[in-house]
Amino acid sequence: MASGTPVAISLAPSFPLAFAKEKWLAVPSALTHLGFGIIEPTTVALQDIMRLRLESAEQRKTRVQISSCCPKVVKLVENAFPGAVPLLSAAPSPATHHCRDLRRRLGPGCVVVFATPCPDKVDEALRPENSGSADEVITFIELTDWLDHRGAWEKAEAREFSSQASYWAYAGLLVSDVSGMSGCRRLLRQCDALAPGFYELLGCQHGCLGGPRLPNLYSIGVRGAVMREYIESVRHLG
Ligand code: SF4
Repeated sequence: MASGTPVAISLAPSFPLAFAKEKWLAVPSALTHLGFGIIEPTTVALQDIMRLRLESAEQRKTRVQISSCCPKVVKLVENAFPGAVPLLSAAPSPATHHCRDLRRRLGPGCVVVFATPCPDKVDEALRPENSGSADEVITFIELTDWLDHRGAWEKAEAREFSSQASYWAYAGLLVSDVSGMSGCRRLLRQCDALAPGFYELLGCQHGCLGGPRLPNLYSIGVRGAVMREYIESVRHLG
């Protein structure tokens, strides 16, 4: 990265699964050694996202709203259930919203990177309606390789994120209505019969905890428990 360029990174909510537990506190410090000036979990955007979802629901006036945060689900709706497109929330994904917010704070000439377990987030960032989002999308596998290659852990120490999300924003991450493509298809087939409400649909089994570009550090069977352990560790944030 060119020196002097302001660079920020947004870490998708499942980031604790990309690192050994003893490294969790050192993640922000290790990332400063790669040149990042602002380092935040995407989760800081969730409060805004809840407000934007509510505004979208009030404007659309549909009985049902479907989250637009999973690019696999958005593509599924557009390609296989076009009648349900109006049900997709107009709120951007937390990734898009947070990257835009980082860009606004850093100003012109900055570079914003989004790190994720999700290869589909590249396409999401390229969609015209998501302009101003991430300049680069990097997978957690690539990010951990980069940190290891640069020896960033050797110099890293415990340090806070530039901004931290509340405990409740993290706790909400473990909630999803349906995960896995077959479950999403089943739900979309019966849209007309759904009870009114907001539906969080995630294309991977186990949601983003099952994202395909996480390093193989924790087996799928323990990822929920590992996330809960991280979330407990930020309980003091209120
Ligand atoms: S559920 Fe899978 S496809 Fe959807 S956003 Fe998460 S990692 Fe990406």
